Amino acid sequence: MANLNIDSVKERTFDAIVIGSGMSGGWAAKEFTDKGLKTLILERGRDVKHIKDYPTTNMYPWEFEHRGELPMAVQEANPIVNRCYAFGESAAHFFVKDAEHPYIQDKPFDWIRGYQVGGKSLLWARQTQRWSDFDFEGPARDGFAVDWPIRYKDIAPWYSYVEKFAGISGNRDGIAELPDGEFLPAFPLNTVEEYFRDHVKSNYKNRYVISARCAHLSTPNQIHLDQGRVQCQRRTICERGCPFGGYFSANATTIPWALKSGHATLRPFSVVESIIYDEKLGKATGVRVIDTNTKEAIEYYAKVIFVNAAALNTNLILLNSKSHRFPNGLGNDSGVLGKYVAFHNYSAHIGAEYDGAKEWTTDGRNPAGGGYIPRFRNVYKQETDFLRGYASGFGAYRYPQRSWDGVGSSLKDNLANKELGPWHVGSHMMGETIPKESNFVSLDDKQKDAWGVPLLKMNIDYDDNDEKMKKDYVEQLTEMFTSAGFTNIKASTDRRAPGLDIHEMGGARMGNDPKTSILNKWNQVHSVKNVFVTDGASMTSTSCQNPSLTYMAFTARAADYAMSEMKKGNI
Ligand SMILES: Cc1cc2nc3c(=O)[nH]c(=O)nc-3n(C[C@H](O)[C@H](O)[C@H](O)COP(=O)(O)OP(=O)(O)OC[C@H]3O[C@@H](n4cnc5c(N)ncnc54)[C@H](O)[C@@H]3O)c2cc1C
Repeated sequence: MANLNIDSVKERTFDAIVIGSGMSGGWAAKEFTDKGLKTLILERGRDVKHIKDYPTTNMYPWEFEHRGELPMAVQEANPIVNRCYAFGESAAHFFVKDAEHPYIQDKPFDWIRGYQVGGKSLLWARQTQRWSDFDFEGPARDGFAVDWPIRYKDIAPWYSYVEKFAGISGNRDGIAELPDGEFLPAFPLNTVEEYFRDHVKSNYKNRYVISARCAHLSTPNQIHLDQGRVQCQRRTICERGCPFGGYFSANATTIPWALKSGHATLRPFSVVESIIYDEKLGKATGVRVIDTNTKEAIEYYAKVIFVNAAALNTNLILLNSKSHRFPNGLGNDSGVLGKYVAFHNYSAHIGAEYDGAKEWTTDGRNPAGGGYIPRFRNVYKQETDFLRGYASGFGAYRYPQRSWDGVGSSLKDNLANKELGPWHVGSHMMGETIPKESNFVSLDDKQKDAWGVPLLKMNIDYDDNDEKMKKDYVEQLTEMFTSAGFTNIKASTDRRAPGLDIHEMGGARMGNDPKTSILNKWNQVHSVKNVFVTDGASMTSTSCQNPSLTYMAFTARAADYAMSEMKKGNI
């Protein structure tokens, strides 16, 4: 019997454990297995195999029972996730349903999640921009949060490293606040987007409209073909999973790559409940997992642990990893764990019409979504009454003048109308929010989920800075649209709860000082050297650029460091 137990412990012992198989966890798994480390990937959801498990990927609109819409009963049963634009009949199976995984909203928070192998990397909008020193120096310059322990030069080579493998399309635009990367050819702007680009360039200093940079294979390189991926077909139904591997997802890319190495074990249906800390050894020895099918508790052991459960679940796991040494959560000597959570604010939009370019229309689809306006406020100097700034999306579209009027043959005639209307242009704000101690998550001390894990409580809100920024976006974009000759300009703002923009960050922030941060400059827990956090939880501030490319780069960099420390015997 004793021998059996020893065997079983041996079987449950790995070089590395990665918690979460999504955007960032997939990268950790790839990096470790590339170097021959025996790696366990723990994923709370089911497995989703590339192609095989994309049930809707080749369906035509008329093949969906509800033509893409979700029945009212489903929508009403899921008021939170139903607010996410991508939650429809074609992709609902990749989203967490509200009732299945409850959490507590001390303040309203729309927590949008994907619990399966691949996480949210199946669902994302693939927008990928590097952050710059205007972001990494932001807290120090503007006096909020704490100083980032790194600068752009530290992460730049790792951006290049992940970009080459993931495949990022874009132009080298030469803009200091939006550094260029290792790009595949960009998806071009259409004629009205180009018109606005040229107008902005000629009329504004330091404002640009560029082709959006995105994780799509416009022209694959050999490394992408080696992954079994081919050129993006511009189908723009990406959230269903792409059988071509045309966009980067962990399912199409890092996870199969890691598994192919022969060094990875993928264990779905495995909720990591906590990380096990050994006081005598002064380090983490493994993790405690609940098998979601059997509810059995199992321990797995490893030399190094990467926490990649997505920002807020990573906070949950760390807060729930209590020991005599760490009564308030693993590595939480500073007391800041769970605090300084911030997010992105997309709650302002603007639309208009353009009467020109009538001789042109569009043909085909643009998976990048059109144009991107990098942040132009408070970049080189503080010029407004709010801190930081916003980037903006920009797109132009032209539709046939179809209408739903009439019944029978008149309805059919109206729907068949191919006559083109005016161009429509639109933009949405992508604002940075300021991390604050008062924006935090914590564990409920009574309520638990179906696996006995405490529920997470959300205390996250907007502030006056966000309101001022929103107002400025509306004013600035209205002025830019007006000067470009756009008409019928309509701006709108909404009161969406934080979270709906799915870029929540912080709670286990990086910093130089262990008294005010959880992680050091290598994403390594200050006081538990063999635990690393490389998802959004580690972000000291949020920038206004999309975050996932930065999580990938941090993960690859931290994995490289962890392996070099293991070699030296330091962890
Ligand atoms: C509709 C949509 C559009 C988006 N658009 C963009 C965009 O354009 N650009 C961008 O940069 N980002 C975008 N995002 C955000 C992006 O998807 C996330 O930033 C990214 O997936 C986060 O990576 P991650 O590894 O931290 O988390 P995930 O990819 O969510 O992976 C986390 C994994 O951990 C698992 N897990 C959680 N808890 C546990 C546990 N206790 N035990 C075991 N496993 C666990 C989860 O099931 C999941 O599989 C978008 C997201 C959505 C949903």
